[in-house]
Amino acid sequence: MTKQGPPQVGNNLDPWYDHYSERAGGLRASEVRALFAVASRPEVVSLAGGMPFVSALPQDLVINAMDRVMVEQGATALQYGSGQGVPLLREQILEVMALEGIQANADDVVVTTGSQHALELVSKLFLDPGDVVLSEGPSYVTALVIFKSYQAEVEHVPMDEHGLIPQALREHIARLKAAGKTMKFLYTIPSFHNPAGVTLSWERRLEILEIARSNNILVLEDNPYGLLYFDHPAPDAMRSVERDGVIYLGTFSKTLAPGFRVGWALAPHAIREKLVLANEAAVLSPSSFTQLVISQYLATADWKGQINTFRGVYEERKNAMLSALGEHLPGLSWTNPNGGFYVWLTLPEQLDSKAMLPRAVKELVAYTPGTAFFADGDGRQNMRLSFCYPTPENIRVGVRRLATVIRGELDL
Ligand code: PMP
Repeated sequence: MTKQGPPQVGNNLDPWYDHYSERAGGLRASEVRALFAVASRPEVVSLAGGMPFVSALPQDLVINAMDRVMVEQGATALQYGSGQGVPLLREQILEVMALEGIQANADDVVVTTGSQHALELVSKLFLDPGDVVLSEGPSYVTALVIFKSYQAEVEHVPMDEHGLIPQALREHIARLKAAGKTMKFLYTIPSFHNPAGVTLSWERRLEILEIARSNNILVLEDNPYGLLYFDHPAPDAMRSVERDGVIYLGTFSKTLAPGFRVGWALAPHAIREKLVLANEAAVLSPSSFTQLVISQYLATADWKGQINTFRGVYEERKNAMLSALGEHLPGLSWTNPNGGFYVWLTLPEQLDSKAMLPRAVKELVAYTPGTAFFADGDGRQNMRLSFCYPTPENIRVGVRRLATVIRGELDL
């Protein structure tokens, strides 16, 4: 590929700006990231970030697990480990995935540094410049950053309240095929979607798997929120019915804590070998220490009970958000998630969530504009509201402030 001028990652204040790779041009600070600085001021109610409420995890549980690891396996914990991950933890991960209908072999699990790193590794293995990644529109912001950094094009396929629309997927694939595009995988977050808050129905899961199979497209199933349901569980994972065409990503970030940075990929056997090589090339081995602490925690603590505790916390917060929205913003529409962390709000047509943000921050409330979740600038009429981190009381305050801003924009 010929270089077309300096990539836009640097600028004239950076003396190395003309040295960066083309790939680095895709690495821009996401809108979510830029927001963190503003939204972390204590007087601002942040409905912007997606930080799990880790204070709901009793610290004793972690301290006990750490203690036992250091006393019983200290030398192993402090040493490099296998590039595929700790064998016992990979067995325990099978028990976690079994809760969503997945039957697998521990040999096909690769432990990664959060599922974020699994996304990076899969992209590195599969994406060449110009390849197309199909994904829901909107989609997870930091996955989009990775796809872009591998110079892939993202093709957004629309959703409704039952998730990705199979007929739309068929149409997009047909159009891309006719245009001679190479489609490597469909990236999907079927349960309690980030940012849309919707869940793909079981019938659609089957239909989408069939579409992917018949078009020779891999499915990258990203499922960080599946176990954090409210009324009733999400349908079983797509991987539960399709082993050869799905790479499944899981994580302990939401069911335990993100600070451990432990996630995993469950991949078809041949892909698994490549993933291990890519993992070794990137990090040698994922952290032995945090893997062993999690393994100890899973073996000795009531981890399912802890997940129930998290579910209760998030459900209460979601209810606070929905009732505040109903009270203060009647007439607008938003999704009603049955799990996870996020509500997706649609503004009246004349409003622009990105342009409105500085005014919202002035009113001491922050959200993530919908444009962050599209590769193509779409989403101005939407925003993501997170209910995972602020208390129910702060959520109510935040929504009230947001309503003031929106009413001000509408001149009401
Ligand atoms: N995928 C999705 C959809 C997410 O929302 C997140 C975290 N916000 C991740 C992947 C990455 O999670 P982690 O690396 O902590 O496992």
